[in-house]
Amino acid sequence: MNSHASRDKFTGTAVRTAVAFAYRDIIGIDVADLTLDEALTFVNARIENAVHTKISFLNAHNANVAKTDAGFRAALEKFTLFPDGVGVDIAAKLLQGRKFKANLNGTDFIPALLQSAKKPVKVGLYGAAPDVVIKTAEAFSKLNPENDVRVLGHGFINEIEQTTMLAEMERWHPDVLLVALGVPKQELWIADHLTQKHCSLAFGIGALFDFAAGNVPRAPQWVRAIRLEWAYRLINEPVRLARRYLLGNPLFLTRVIAYKFASKSASSGSQNV
Ligand code: UDP
Repeated sequence: MNSHASRDKFTGTAVRTAVAFAYRDIIGIDVADLTLDEALTFVNARIENAVHTKISFLNAHNANVAKTDAGFRAALEKFTLFPDGVGVDIAAKLLQGRKFKANLNGTDFIPALLQSAKKPVKVGLYGAAPDVVIKTAEAFSKLNPENDVRVLGHGFINEIEQTTMLAEMERWHPDVLLVALGVPKQELWIADHLTQKHCSLAFGIGALFDFAAGNVPRAPQWVRAIRLEWAYRLINEPVRLARRYLLGNPLFLTRVIAYKFASKSASSGSQNV
């Protein structure tokens, strides 16, 4: 564990010992460094101990959003962040000399979690278009028929409907709540509305439901293996994603390089004192 471990957001001492892990500093944002097995052990311990834990996935895009949106940046402080995609891996290599132990993007991690639980789990879905969230519930039920998967709300319900949904969460208390409202809306919503009484794990998972429902095609395995899933998504949704990837990726790398030099000059400055 490095010195960042003392700044973790753990609350339960029982689960604190389940997995010890370090955080890596990606342009000022702490990101958990875990293998897939370690990450699954960590989240399953949280479920078993019913400890409310907010989890999201840091990629180049939302790191950029965090740099310009103070509200989003503040909300992320409440989350344990997993590394998502090639951008944060390049950043880790540039900043700390090595990549993350694993790419824990939500699109792969959530299905792995739903299949890994030792006991059946209650899975609540909130977000995306009405037909998409229903299809996702069907797909996730097939993934592990023992789990109790329920649609709690589609992504365009109003505030009154959200209040009703929150009361339903308090009654049912899902082990895993998946919130798919896009970035930064989902993290802001989770940070503002969810506490221990609503659920154990609360994930902000972006476009996962669109993939799970089959509405947006996932890149073939070989494209993912060469770390070009972002390019595949760009070809499929050029209008929506051009800005995010073609401008956002170089911007993120520029920020990483600037952060590296700023940290270097700060540490050489302090050595001179
Ligand atoms: N979405 C939603 N409510 C909203 C905005 C977005 O449910 O008010 C859903 C959208 O339908 C999609 C998901 O959020 O299923 C992710 O959106 P997007 O692809 O923009 O997210 P990102 O890729 O930025 O995480």
